[in-house]
Formats: sequence, structure tokens, C-alpha cells
Amino acid sequence: MARKVSMAALGLLVVIAGLLIAGQWSLHRHSQEVCGICARHINPKAGVIAEIGGVRHHVCCAHCAVTEGLQEHKPVRLIEVTDFSTGRKLDPSHAWYVDGSRIVACVHDMTRLNEMKQVEKTAFDRCSPGTFAFASREEADAFAGKNGGAVLNLEKMLAGVNAGEAKQ
Ligand SMILES: [Zn+2]
Repeated sequence: MARKVSMAALGLLVVIAGLLIAGQWSLHRHSQEVCGICARHINPKAGVIAEIGGVRHHVCCAHCAVTEGLQEHKPVRLIEVTDFSTGRKLDPSHAWYVDGSRIVACVHDMTRLNEMKQVEKTAFDRCSPGTFAFASREEADAFAGKNGGAVLNLEKMLAGVNAGEAKQ
């Protein structure tokens, strides 16, 4: 009897250890794919590395970083952007940006729970409309022609959020 109990306890320990390891692993996996600002999963074609007030974040798209900079009154500098058509990493200063198109890259159902635990539609979405990067002006123009939005270079794209900084 005592032996049976200890066998069961051992089995339970193995199961718990397995769950702990699996939990750690999935936490680790998530942390690499989630936006450092809005916590939603990063679309591999729209991910951006940005410095907001000098602090580096992996964010879901340039728009999310710009919104954060505007809300926190901090300057935004892009370190690396992703080509929306190929998923390749691009130097932000050589990329072209489409801002305000109809495309939403972040997985988001536009709902959230309020304090009463009721589902609420959000009127404001920090990542919408998204800002997407392209390797060439032609590709950015073609995307904007199909999906709407304005084609901007890096300087123009960040002009709003960094305007206060430039004046100081
Ligand atoms: Zn985000």
C-alpha cells in the first residue's frame, strides 16, 4: 500500500515538473512575439524595433511606437523595420512607409472587457490604422494604390511625434 502511494506521488511529481517546463517554454516563446507596448502578437511582416525616449522596444508596427511616443511625449527612433511584402528586415532610413491604409496587421478583435466584465467595443485602437514599411517607393505606392493611405519617408512618418523635440 505504502509503495503504491509513493508510486502515485512520483507520477504526480513527474506530471507537475512537465507542466512547469512546458509553461516556462510557452512563456518564453510568447515574450519574443508580443509587442512590448500593447502586448498583442507581432505580425512577422510588420514588426519594428523602436527606441521610445531612449528605451528599446520590439513593437507590432511603427504606428504603435508613434502612438506611444505621442502619449508619453517621448521622441521615437526606429532601429529596424520589416518589409511588409517580403518579411525581410530593413534599415528604417531607407524604407518607405504607408500610413493610414485600410489594412490591419495586428490580430485584434477590437473588443475589451470593462470593469463590469462586459465586452466593450473600443473606439480607439493605438495600432490602427497600421503603418507598414516597404523596401522601395514603387512597392509602397502600389500598396497605397490598392489599400489607401499616404506614402511617407522616415522623416515625414516621425515628424508628428518628434516635432516637439526638434523645436527644443
Ligand atoms: Zn503594439
